[in-house]
Amino acid sequence: MADSAPYITLRKGEEDISDEALVLRYRPGSASLGVPPAAALRYPDERPEDRDHEGILYARVTQSLNAAGRPVGQPIWPKVHPSRQRECMGEMLCHYCKGEPSHTAAGTLFLDVVGPEQRAKPDWPEGSFTFQPPLCLPHAKKAVDDCGHGHRHGGFTGLRVLEPRWHGVLGTPYQDSAGRPKATRTGAGRNTEVIPFNHPHKRLFLGTQYALALHDVTVVDLAAEFAAADLT
Ligand SMILES: [Zn+2]
Repeated sequence: MADSAPYITLRKGEEDISDEALVLRYRPGSASLGVPPAAALRYPDERPEDRDHEGILYARVTQSLNAAGRPVGQPIWPKVHPSRQRECMGEMLCHYCKGEPSHTAAGTLFLDVVGPEQRAKPDWPEGSFTFQPPLCLPHAKKAVDDCGHGHRHGGFTGLRVLEPRWHGVLGTPYQDSAGRPKATRTGAGRNTEVIPFNHPHKRLFLGTQYALALHDVTVVDLAAEFAAADLT
């Protein structure tokens, strides 16, 4: 069933093939200016879609798509496919159906998954980050009804956002390991962090998801919006 999981959700069989393909390229420095040579991540057969508008490189993950361009296969909750997440963030599409998200005078609809501590912060949700692109109203209802991840993390809050701003990129910093790119690690595994698009070490960073900062935000009553739209 084409509608059984969000468009951005990773599917069984889709594999991250970045590490076999990544190489380092060295940019010459300048002795007179005191600038050392700098290593940068690249793919030998790079395509325009491998980088964003700021030149940051992104993970390559295979895609299992049907003839209509919809992902197929068992969803791997709560993992996200990097290209499909960027596509929905870049064009502000519903991350479930790739259609137009819900817009009202209060803004575009996002769902936030935060616990009581974050909600208790004085400025929340103004300026908060999200990696989840917006939703149309029927798919916000479906997410609220179906998504165990959201319920395990304190439930969903509906946010209407007038000014979503690019914040940066979630991904992994790499190191130059004797001429080979090596992902940095923490005790728990591959290190992941969010950097701004203009980060000085962005050339050694492999991105996976766009991060959006939410401004001019209104918390909305989702149940009332669903009822008004006859979504039961
Ligand atoms: Zn939708």
